[in-house]
Amino acid sequence: MYGTSAVVVGAGIVGCACARELALAGFEVTVVERGAAASATTAHGEGNVLVSDKGPGPELQLAQLSRRLWPQVLAAAAERSAHAARAVEWEPKGGIVVATTDAGARELTRFAAGQRTAGVHTEILDADALAAAEPYVTRDHAAAVHYPEDAQVQPAAAAAALLTDALAAGATLRTGCEVLGAVTCGERITAVRTSTGLLEADCFVNAAGPWSGELATRLGVPVDIRPRRGDVLVTTPVPPMVFHKVYDADYVGAVGSSAEDLQTSAVVESTRGGSVLIGSSRRRVGFDDRLRPAVLSAVAAKALRLFPALAGVPVMRAYGGFRPYVPDHLPVIGADPRLSGLWHVGGHEGAGIGLSVGSARLLRELMLGQPTEMDTTPFRVDRPAVLGGRPAPAREETA
Ligand SMILES: Cc1cc2nc3c(=O)[nH]c(=O)nc-3n(C[C@H](O)[C@H](O)[C@H](O)COP(=O)(O)OP(=O)(O)OC[C@H]3O[C@@H](n4cnc5c(N)ncnc54)[C@H](O)[C@@H]3O)c2cc1C
Repeated sequence: MYGTSAVVVGAGIVGCACARELALAGFEVTVVERGAAASATTAHGEGNVLVSDKGPGPELQLAQLSRRLWPQVLAAAAERSAHAARAVEWEPKGGIVVATTDAGARELTRFAAGQRTAGVHTEILDADALAAAEPYVTRDHAAAVHYPEDAQVQPAAAAAALLTDALAAGATLRTGCEVLGAVTCGERITAVRTSTGLLEADCFVNAAGPWSGELATRLGVPVDIRPRRGDVLVTTPVPPMVFHKVYDADYVGAVGSSAEDLQTSAVVESTRGGSVLIGSSRRRVGFDDRLRPAVLSAVAAKALRLFPALAGVPVMRAYGGFRPYVPDHLPVIGADPRLSGLWHVGGHEGAGIGLSVGSARLLRELMLGQPTEMDTTPFRVDRPAVLGGRPAPAREETA
């Protein structure tokens, strides 16, 4: 698309992945970010690249596409910046899901059987195999499944590597620049008004994470993408005691739930620095970023049930972020049918790190009018969950 200009709004991992795909396809890309690159949700989550938590359907297909792409993307990026690619800490360590009740074991076994029909690799672990794979995990469990395809990245470093590659391919980055509104001509967006002036382009990508709804409203075409709070505990560095990404079987239920009140599950993973990351919670509290001791205690209690050996390990800090949530739990990838030239890529909730590269690939194919690697209909913008049944308000028209 040589000669076609694209503005990507948001330099989280999704915006960085989109900027890279579009720049490599020949678009003249400008990334606009009101803060610093990778400083928002992308810096406040964990870095799991999972297929294990998704049942058969479009999100799993996107996860499988992304899982295939990650090693390719990182290998290509490493050719241009070995340092940035190395910092990503890509680790195809695999995941293990542990059920601690009989009911949980039945549900996990049924879920894994469904996933196998969709091409996910799963291995049922008996007690000895689980103890060999994770010596410190509870012996008090009812079932365990190993997912060898699960992997991990350092999320902010992954976003930085994708952005570095986009810049190497000719993209430019404007930080400290907030998009405030749209300039339109008829039904087409021709520019955005920003805190540092007007920015014209042929097309615009809303990659504003949990603020995508707010940005879309500013552009005159609301979409229902909202924040869903999550909190993580970080331990002091410890000798290796968690070897896979390990989580309890309640996690899948918490992910799929739409409840506003607190959902917790134990999600435990080590990092290269030795700290153990312990998640996670889900609450719909708007952009309230206060840490709640009761939430952190609930998360810690579940993690201790899974890893009793963590009892003596000090927590060094806690942080939280806002997952970009869509009521039907599917991302939004596609053109806005109400405003020509505007595209949305977001709403990945708790999977945006993993799903970023697949989503960006689909965006590139859609923007180029090429066949897409999978059916993108389930992610379209004009589905009821995204438009929320609201009519778009009248826009200020500027020729
Ligand atoms: C506790 C927690 C744990 C998680 N764990 C995982 C995990 O293990 N694996 C996984 O895949 N995902 C995980 N996630 C989810 C993942 O972090 C998100 O899905 C992902 O980071 C979203 O990326 P993004 O680029 O869409 O949003 P963001 O990273 O929030 O980026 C959006 C950017 O847009 C900018 N912006 C917004 N409005 C404007 C504007 N008007 N003008 C200019 N710039 C604007 C913001 O400043 C921001 O930098 C977790 C999230 C949380 C909170």
